[in-house]
Amino acid sequence: MTASFDPAADERPPAAAVDVLVIGAGITGIYQLYRARHSGFSALLLEAGEGVGGTWYWNRYPGARFDSESYTYGYLFSRELFDDWEWQEHFAAQPETERYLNHVVDRFDLRRHIRFGARVSSAEYDETSGTWLVAVSDGSEVRARFLVAATGVLSVPYIPDIPGRDSFGGESYHTGQWPAGPVDFAGKRVAVVGTASSGVQLVPAIAEEVASLTVYQRTANWCTPLNNRAITAEEQAELRAGFEQLREILNTSIHGFHHPPHDRTAFEDPADERQRFYDQMWNSPGFTKLTSHYTDMLFNPEANAEWCDFIAAKIRSIVEDPATAERLIPTDHRFGEKRPPFVTGYYESFNRPNVSLVDLRETPIVRVTPTGIETTEGPEEFDIIVWATGFDFGTGALARMGIRGRGGLALLDYWAEGPRTFLGIQTHGFPNLFFPGGPHAAAGNNPRYNGDQVDFITDVLVYAQEHRFDVVEVTERSEERWTNMVNRGAANSSFSEVSYYFGTNIPGKPVRYLLNSGGRPKLFSVIADVVANDYDAFTFSRVTEPAGATG
Ligand SMILES: Cc1cc2nc3c(=O)[nH]c(=O)nc-3n(C[C@H](O)[C@H](O)[C@H](O)COP(=O)(O)OP(=O)(O)OC[C@H]3O[C@@H](n4cnc5c(N)ncnc54)[C@H](O)[C@@H]3O)c2cc1C
Repeated sequence: MTASFDPAADERPPAAAVDVLVIGAGITGIYQLYRARHSGFSALLLEAGEGVGGTWYWNRYPGARFDSESYTYGYLFSRELFDDWEWQEHFAAQPETERYLNHVVDRFDLRRHIRFGARVSSAEYDETSGTWLVAVSDGSEVRARFLVAATGVLSVPYIPDIPGRDSFGGESYHTGQWPAGPVDFAGKRVAVVGTASSGVQLVPAIAEEVASLTVYQRTANWCTPLNNRAITAEEQAELRAGFEQLREILNTSIHGFHHPPHDRTAFEDPADERQRFYDQMWNSPGFTKLTSHYTDMLFNPEANAEWCDFIAAKIRSIVEDPATAERLIPTDHRFGEKRPPFVTGYYESFNRPNVSLVDLRETPIVRVTPTGIETTEGPEEFDIIVWATGFDFGTGALARMGIRGRGGLALLDYWAEGPRTFLGIQTHGFPNLFFPGGPHAAAGNNPRYNGDQVDFITDVLVYAQEHRFDVVEVTERSEERWTNMVNRGAANSSFSEVSYYFGTNIPGKPVRYLLNSGGRPKLFSVIADVVANDYDAFTFSRVTEPAGATG
């Protein structure tokens, strides 16, 4: 199948033409490229970075690793792929995941369809031809029938605008934009600013080798153990034997994890049994503390408070300095109001003589100086500052891509009050543009949900192709219904406005819930409905003559 439109229809210099242009070589974009190619479309993928991996290309800081079990995060579309990749750990570190995604790209011969170092700087919809004209940072242009922006929810690093931030004369890094070469921490005076998921992974990974490590904490988080370990030979064999069952569980699970939900509310158990259960949770892997906890832990304030008390007691028992322990215990949110980080040796790091904690609520940062960081308590000198200060979640990458739809409407303007989407994949007024893994997706094991979106997008493209339609656009009504569902769903979510899931970490960003709290069941039911009704959530139209039509 080849592009059936005329790329030279306007007066601009000729640009390359593809059926499907994917942006982003993360786990979502790679899968979209695979699905597009296997559905017979010509396809190209543009990636700003110099390699494959997305999150797992950019976040190469020491300690970076999964919070999802490796084998539940990897692709499930190919039994052969599952069989020929043996994950080494239950929660793989960044290098292994980057290797895995490179392996996938090579195994399915996708690399020749990817251009690296190609940041999309603008994407404009051309109504005459029903195509997108995409400008790339290297000065080239690509024209595409369908544009799929798989640009990630956590791909735009954020650093707070602290006075003097750029004046620092030492080395300075953001965890989400880590350099390809090694960073030498040995014997250095290091500051880590931020104690969410990335900061708490980094701290124990470098604590031993640095001369000193000062951790600047704005908000304490409810960290619990990841409980990672190597996958044994028996477990490898079990994984292979149980592939179909695992795939079934993951393909139908609400959040894309394989852990079964618990069958009781907290106070159905007596007090001593609850304490035993909390201990069991503490020693269980990663997200089980959310997915397999007492069924009312997130929403019953008493059940939640008791679990928080249990974690607080653990922190006090691990951290030797009582004042530091108290600072590490969250006081402004309950467990599950923010995405909880998972840790390996984080609290223990503060027992080292070279590691100290600065609570920015007591002593805020005044400025960054050429030699270090100054708080209200005074200056401290550093060789390296690491900003573990998070991302512009959900909409960050799409908002920065210069997207203009029908009538030149900027996506930025259309979303000025927050994103409006259908299924988190398309928005009205921007025909032929899709964005899997963007805002309004569900919290959970990302590749599962994003993969569902890619599968549906591919079905829509195939439907359009089969019916010889050039233009696919979600109706205003479908978009409105989904967006209202997402906005209303904020009230049913355990997450609150203290979470970056509401965009509140970015000054000036509209405060909107950016996730679909209906999760995959909601996605599946709406998709089933759309398919049963002949894709009536979309309008389909033609701008070109069907092949073989006579004038
Ligand atoms: C440190 C860290 C750990 C995480 N751990 C987990 C986990 O354990 N489980 C989980 O489910 N999720 C996790 N996540 C979330 C993670 O982002 C997703 O799991 C997943 O990587 C999303 O894949 P993606 O392909 O949608 O986006 P990404 O992996 O973010 O890839 C997007 C790509 O698009 C590219 N791009 C963006 N804008 C442009 C542009 N204008 N032009 C060209 N290219 C562009 C970026 O360079 C990037 O490579 C983690 C995130 C981080 C930061």
